[in-house]
Amino acid sequence: MNEAPTMRCERCGAYLPFDPRDFSVNCPACHAETKVGAEARRNAEQYRSTVQDEKRRADLALSLARSYQQGPGVGLHAGVVEPRVSAPCSSCGGQVSFGQDDLSTRCPFCGATVSAPARARAALVESAEATALQAESKSARAQRDLVRKSFPHEGRTNTLLWAAMIGAGAVIAVLGAVDLATSDAGDVATGATLIGIGGAALLGTLVTWSIVSAPRRAIERGLGALSPIVRGRLSNRGLAPVLDWLDANWVGDNPGIVGFSNPGRGCWVLSGSWRDAPVLIAITDTWFEKRLDLLVTRRRASADERARSVLAGSGFTVTAGALGVHAWRKSSDLAILGGDGARVLLDALIAS
Ligand SMILES: [Zn+2]
Ligand SMILES: [Zn+2]
Repeated sequence: MNEAPTMRCERCGAYLPFDPRDFSVNCPACHAETKVGAEARRNAEQYRSTVQDEKRRADLALSLARSYQQGPGVGLHAGVVEPRVSAPCSSCGGQVSFGQDDLSTRCPFCGATVSAPARARAALVESAEATALQAESKSARAQRDLVRKSFPHEGRTNTLLWAAMIGAGAVIAVLGAVDLATSDAGDVATGATLIGIGGAALLGTLVTWSIVSAPRRAIERGLGALSPIVRGRLSNRGLAPVLDWLDANWVGDNPGIVGFSNPGRGCWVLSGSWRDAPVLIAITDTWFEKRLDLLVTRRRASADERARSVLAGSGFTVTAGALGVHAWRKSSDLAILGGDGARVLLDALIAS
């Protein structure tokens, strides 16, 4: 951020606006000619490129905000308002208002050409970026609501399926028992067959369930061991706890864990805090997807390259936004969080 270089008329002392390509400027007040030195031209050139960079950032942020506003199916109606800031005129002290496109303007009180001071320009960029973040967050929330609506019974499917299979086995066995009790002594074949089929179904379901649930129990044990570290709570209700956590803690675009694939009971979520920042650890383990997600919300952006390389070295892909970091890897193996692993990775996450 640098300030607009100023020049005064050699004869009357009026402030002179000048272009970095000019070698001399005519005073608009007294028409005297003032030479522009090489250093002044260099400063002006540097100032111009600084302002262009700032304007590019602000324009990009506002066009991003507009694209979110027009995004598919997100139902945003609030218009994106272009930011304006005001700063005192360098010549008379009156308040001059600056918008995105007039980084230098005429003072309405004294008519002098006033350049927006660095602080006002920074405020314009900041406000444009805040507008973009707000639009982004709003669109992200709308997407989460859509995901919620798509899976109203998420997490119950597996349990219902197991219950149905056990129930069917039991019903067949009971029918067999009833048949056995009510038929003649000589005719036990039907009852015995039904009891056999029902019993086999019941036994098969229980054996399969214990085999299938062994890795589930391992994940629950592993995450349970981590919960005192982050003083967290473990839940196993599909994506719902992730969406709730994002609603409460996340600013900006949705992290990649939010999708229209339904992990159901194959998703375990531990939410808590690390160094006073809200943190979420999610394990997804289904036949089509295995992943480990780490999310943290923080108050300000930081970008520690060393911290990022710690995560990258452990196979994580890191996406850092202004107010939160998301890291994930394509494996549901919890061993990486064992020992000091969780502490090291969470520290790296916060610093990324
Ligand atoms: Zn003059
Ligand atoms: Zn003025």
